[in-house]
Amino acid sequence: KPSQFDAIVVGAGPSGNACAYTMAKAGLKVLQIERGEYPGSKNVQGAILYAKALEEIIPDFREDAPLERHIIEQRMWMLDDSSFVGTHIRSADYDKPPYNRYTIIRAQFDKWFSAKVREAGALLICETTVNHLIMDGDQVVGVQCDREQGDVYADVVVLADGVNSTLARKAGFHGEIKAQNVALAVKEILFLPEDTIRQRFNVGEESGVVIEMVGRITDGMMGTGFLYTNKESLTIGVGCMLSDFKSNPNRTSPYVLLENMKRHPAIAPLIEGGEMKEYCAHLIPEGGFNAIPQVYGNGWLIVGDSGGFVNAAHREGSNLAMTTGRLAAETVIAAKASGKGFHANALKPYKAALDDSFVMKDLRKYRDLPTVMHKNPQFFTTYPDLVAQAARTMITVDGVDKKSKEREVFAHFRKTRKLTGLVGDAYKLWKAIR
Ligand code: FAD
Repeated sequence: KPSQFDAIVVGAGPSGNACAYTMAKAGLKVLQIERGEYPGSKNVQGAILYAKALEEIIPDFREDAPLERHIIEQRMWMLDDSSFVGTHIRSADYDKPPYNRYTIIRAQFDKWFSAKVREAGALLICETTVNHLIMDGDQVVGVQCDREQGDVYADVVVLADGVNSTLARKAGFHGEIKAQNVALAVKEILFLPEDTIRQRFNVGEESGVVIEMVGRITDGMMGTGFLYTNKESLTIGVGCMLSDFKSNPNRTSPYVLLENMKRHPAIAPLIEGGEMKEYCAHLIPEGGFNAIPQVYGNGWLIVGDSGGFVNAAHREGSNLAMTTGRLAAETVIAAKASGKGFHANALKPYKAALDDSFVMKDLRKYRDLPTVMHKNPQFFTTYPDLVAQAARTMITVDGVDKKSKEREVFAHFRKTRKLTGLVGDAYKLWKAIR
């Protein structure tokens, strides 16, 4: 069958939109297929948008994109059951345009991005699921959708279908996603008056705060929590590895984890009075570098969460999604211009471009982190407890001299982890993030 399109993009999240936009803008005939009712209806994110990745695709996006607040302060908290110890980084420089990070609401953002894709000339079909890839030998030549006469043909198919890509699995491009390589996250959007948010977080009309958390809130599982300020709402969520939920001795469900987190004495006053308007759960591919599958082949490319492109250490996903989408699009554009077809060899430059970008460089840097964290739950339990207790001991003024307090803190560390354990943990951590 002759190709009806230069490219078909499956999925209208940030990776699919970045890819479809870049190709359509370059004059390629692009079809984008999304199973949701509209782009954004099926998508979940915290959500922090990293400006740089989008700027490289739509330089003037700030003019009309639905942005909530630019981030002027990042807090990183370690929590035990009753307290937190943390760092806060706030700078007036973050409050000067052009801003580097924003909170967004994905349902609105994805709709906006999709409108740009269509303005650039791509055709979008929603409420349509791609069930299979159509093969001609070992070459992908199109997709089969769940519609009558649902076979569509194209030179290239880009899989931007998100985490747990069933299409790639069915086609044998990669195996079943492993439970230890994927986190299950739940989040709520809590509505609060704008004034209340400004007062509670000490921010202006447009500026906001990000809080990332580790410790007791994940009930001994490998995971993190977050709290972000939107214009008139807060997003609060927590995510842990799926394998840890399966083996958790307390059988804690994600919902219970979030409810407990909301009751933590450090968090409850910040969200008090918030009216819950949205609750959702979603997977995040967190296997990192070692879990990235083959990402191109004869007539196909994989982008975004579908390829496992998430930097869990820095809570980055949407920027990797947009960048991989853009790089895949540029590869297809170059392949078309060369006129040499769309076999794996012609699409191979995609991998080289990925390797050359921050995407693979960052994932490579943290390649051992998922395994180290998995094998050492003390980083999510013992250490937040120890640090919180040490801080409390040192700042409590109770007539005990500071030298004795220091001795007490060190003795407590040594008793809990022993000297060899402490040195070993420091080495493991250094190795995992070096
Ligand atoms: P998705 O956004 O998942 O889009 C895939 C699309 O494909 C969906 O719209 C889906 O409906 C469609 N689709 C799937 N299968 C088919 C099919 N067969 N046929 C047709 N359509 C199909 N990243 C950040 O950068 N910052 C954050 O703050 C952040 N926080 C997060 C918090 C949570 C709770 C979660 C779950 C993720 C977070 N991420 C964050 C990660 C980020 O959301 C993802 O990396 C990003 O959404 C990936 O984009 P994508 O386009 O690859 O996939």
